[in-house]
Amino acid sequence: MAETTQPTCTPTGVLPLPLPALGMLSDAHRRGARCAWCSAQLTADEAVDAGERPAEDGGHLFPRGCRRCAGVAAYRLLQQHAPACDVCKVSAACPTAVAAVRLIREGGL
Ligand SMILES: [Zn+2]
Ligand SMILES: [Zn+2]
Repeated sequence: MAETTQPTCTPTGVLPLPLPALGMLSDAHRRGARCAWCSAQLTADEAVDAGERPAEDGGHLFPRGCRRCAGVAAYRLLQQHAPACDVCKVSAACPTAVAAVRLIREGGL
């Protein structure tokens, strides 16, 4: 029997959601002022953290999205994640899957 201790999930609960191509993202997208997917102006209230990540220029991206787009992205992430995740295969308590399902619900999908 195989022990699986692969750290596939971040402990912060923030999912690094799949983004559009980085070249498509403006400054406002990169600092989270606008939705990374649909470019809607975001208020602190509705913004969903899409996961900080390194930028191609050595800086950092702080992408955010509106609830609906983040829900769609989380759905896509879950579709890719679940078949490849050893935790999801044996349990419904995978933190990545739990976080994705929460975002999908919040997006009203
Ligand atoms: Zn959006
Ligand atoms: Zn998983």
